[in-house]
Amino acid sequence: MTDRHKGLTEVVIYPAWCKGCGICAAFCPEKVIELDAEGKARAVRQEDCINCGFCELHCPDFAISVRTKEPGADPGTPGYKPPAKGK
Ligand code: SF4
Ligand code: SF4
Repeated sequence: MTDRHKGLTEVVIYPAWCKGCGICAAFCPEKVIELDAEGKARAVRQEDCINCGFCELHCPDFAISVRTKEPGADPGTPGYKPPAKGK
């Protein structure tokens, strides 16, 4: 929860556990999360997440997990290594 560079995290939301209180969407400093038409939280701007951890810490239903991606997992992120040919 200390790396504040964008694009290094994956925000996973479990819709079955989300009750749509909106805490995560209201307080995410980067507006990563919005409530969808069904009132469930969705991470609509994953690339803007700064890994502050607020959503995960404050979700009353433990419906959010903010995970650090493997270094170099995505193109354009620090340390990106393209997959070797044939894999
Ligand atoms: S804080 Fe948790 S329960 Fe509330 S909207 Fe966000 S994911 Fe759903
Ligand atoms: S970790 Fe912080 S920036 Fe990322 S989605 Fe949660 S509240 Fe928003």
